[in-house]
Amino acid sequence: MPLVDMRDMLNHAYQNNYAIGGFGLVSLDFLEAIIMTAEFCRSPVILNLSEPLFHQQDFSLIMPAVERAAHHAKVPVAIHFDHAKKHESIVQAINLGCNSVMLDVSSETFPVNITQTSRVTEVAHACGTAVEGILGFVGGVEGENAINNLGEVVYTSSEEAKVYVERTKIDFLAVSVGTIHGRQPNRSTKLDFKRLKRINDELGIPLVLHGGSGLVEEQYHKLILNGVAKINCYTELSDIAAAVIRSNSQKNNKKGYIESLHGVKESLQEQIKLYMHLWGSAGRAAEVLIQCRPWQSAEQIILCYVEGHRLQQLDVLIEQSRKTLTTIPGVRQVFSGWAPSELNQYRLCWRIQLSHSDAVNNLQSHPEYIYFFNQLSRSIDPEKISITFAPALSNTEFRFKELVDA
Ligand SMILES: [Zn+2]
Repeated sequence: MPLVDMRDMLNHAYQNNYAIGGFGLVSLDFLEAIIMTAEFCRSPVILNLSEPLFHQQDFSLIMPAVERAAHHAKVPVAIHFDHAKKHESIVQAINLGCNSVMLDVSSETFPVNITQTSRVTEVAHACGTAVEGILGFVGGVEGENAINNLGEVVYTSSEEAKVYVERTKIDFLAVSVGTIHGRQPNRSTKLDFKRLKRINDELGIPLVLHGGSGLVEEQYHKLILNGVAKINCYTELSDIAAAVIRSNSQKNNKKGYIESLHGVKESLQEQIKLYMHLWGSAGRAAEVLIQCRPWQSAEQIILCYVEGHRLQQLDVLIEQSRKTLTTIPGVRQVFSGWAPSELNQYRLCWRIQLSHSDAVNNLQSHPEYIYFFNQLSRSIDPEKISITFAPALSNTEFRFKELVDA
C-alpha cells in the first residue's frame, strides 16, 4: 500500500521546503539499503531506476522485487524510471510497474524535445503515470568520472522552461544549473542559483536535480529553497559499495561473492541516512502518507458464456488477445481461459491487469481492444457477454462496478 502517487509526494516536498532522494538502484543490496533506511528515518523515498545503468542486465527481472519492496514498505515510496532513451522503454517501464517516467531527449533540439516528451506525457498520463521532463543538458555519466564524459553542459533557460512545461504538460522538471552526472573532481561545483530562482518563479512546479552527489550542505539548502524537491543520487552510493567490496577483497583475496558484499548494505545505509536528514525528508513519512493518494492499480474482468461446440472457434481469439492486449500502454498482464459452467456451456474469462485506474479509459478506447471486443461479440451471442470493471483500492480491497451486464 505505501506505493503512492509521485505527484502528491513531490508536491508535498515542494510546498514544505524539503527534497526527497531519488536513490539510484542497480541491485537488491541497493534496494534493501534504500528501503530500510527510509523506514529507519521515517522518510518518503523514490526508487530511481536509470535505463543506462541496466545495459548489461534485464531491467524486467528486478522490477517484481522493486514493486514488492515498495508495496511492503512502511513509508511512502514511488518508483521512477530515469533517462529512458526510447518511447518503447517508457511503455515497458509503465507496464512493469513504474509510476513515474522520464524520457531523456535533452541532447536533442528544443522542438524535438517538446514533441517527443509531449508524446510520452500523453501516453503516461493516460496510464496514471507521472512524467519528469528534462531541459538543458546535465553532462557526465552516472557512476563514472564526470570529467571523462563532460559533454557540453547546457544550462536550462527559464523562458524555454515555461514554454516547455506548458506544451509538454510534464509534472516535474529536471534542470541544468551546474551539476554534472558522475564523480566530481572536487567539491567546488558552482551552481547558478539566480537561474534556478528564475525557473522556479516562472514554473511553480517541483524541480529535480540530477548529478546530486557530493555537494555541500549550504548548496543543498539553497537548491531546496529554490524549488528542488527531488535530488537524484547514485554515483556516491556506487563508489561507497565498490570501496567496501575492494576493502573486503584486500583483507582476504580468497573471499567469495557473498562474503565480498559483507558490509555493503550498512555502508549505503549510512550515506542515505545522512542525505535524508540533510535534505529534510527524514521524519516526514506520516504526513506524506496522509496527504498522498495511494497508487490505485486496477483490473478489468470480462466474463462470457459460450456453447461447448463453439469453444474451439475461440481458441485463436483467446491466444491472440493475450499478445495484442499486452501491447497497449497501461496493460500489465492478461490472463484468459475457460471453465465448464453448465451442461454443455463454458465460462470464458479475461482478467486484464492495469497499471492504474486511469488506464481503463485508455484500454477501452484503444483500437486493439475495440477490435478484440468486436471479434468477441461476433463470436458469442451478445446477450451472454458480461463485463465487470474492478478498480483496486489497495492490493487486498476491491470494489466491483458493473459497466455492462446484458
Ligand atoms: Zn540523471
